Amino acid sequence: MEENFIPLSPDDKFRFSCTNRLSCFNECCRDLNQYLTPYDILRLKKSLGISSGMFLKTYTSHHTGPETGLPVITLKTDSAPRSICPFVTPSGCKVYKDRPSSCRTYPLARLVSRNRESGRLSEYYMMIKETHCLGFNNGKEQTVREWIIEEDIEPYNRMNDMLMEILSLKNQITPGELDIKSGYIFRMALYDLDAFRSHLFSNKIETDDFKEEEINAAKQDDTVLLQIAFSWVKQNLFTKTSSINI
Ligand code: SF4
Ligand code: SF4
Repeated sequence: MEENFIPLSPDDKFRFSCTNRLSCFNECCRDLNQYLTPYDILRLKKSLGISSGMFLKTYTSHHTGPETGLPVITLKTDSAPRSICPFVTPSGCKVYKDRPSSCRTYPLARLVSRNRESGRLSEYYMMIKETHCLGFNNGKEQTVREWIIEEDIEPYNRMNDMLMEILSLKNQITPGELDIKSGYIFRMALYDLDAFRSHLFSNKIETDDFKEEEINAAKQDDTVLLQIAFSWVKQNLFTKTSSINI
């Protein structure tokens, strides 16, 4: 597949529309190498009505970053050469409302960099022009900003930025490979959210740093639970005095 990357600023316009009337329908859901973020997993397991543990076991492959020791979770596809997404059906994506961030953002891709001194994040967008995709020059024109609103990408960006912050902290505090125990804790808290929930609500982990309202909200709301998991990982693995028992 031939690709062309075109940088776009938030107010740049592009024309794109995806419909099931195009002959390329579902073409973008094969040849996948789909990385999943913690928030992608939260949304997908909710959409499928299963636990995070079951989701990870059934739909994902796990690797460990060779230089970081951090978990890398990808969507398990059918075997090569087709590498088709497990959620694609003849009528389209069966998890459309909760599809992963990169699927929502396509044909754009979001890149983020973090300033070491100020900690501020800067975002950049690129348009990925692939020859097989016939959605370009189709439908209405919109700016990048309008696309982000229309596709409901903002909640994903907000949560994915928390991961970005932790990765950047990890590189500062613990450069190089993370030990096996810390790697396990990182994976459990951020990717296996239902396991983190049981640890949290069976008092196996310290909750002193969190407000009671936050903990109560996390009982009902997985997004709040994941925000707590990000803070907990940050405090317990990537501060200068971190030590953890679980
Ligand atoms: S237009 Fe592009 S995004 Fe839409 S189905 Fe075709 S290949 Fe996929
Ligand atoms: S999650 Fe949906 S949109 Fe994304 S690759 Fe799979 S079927 Fe396609």
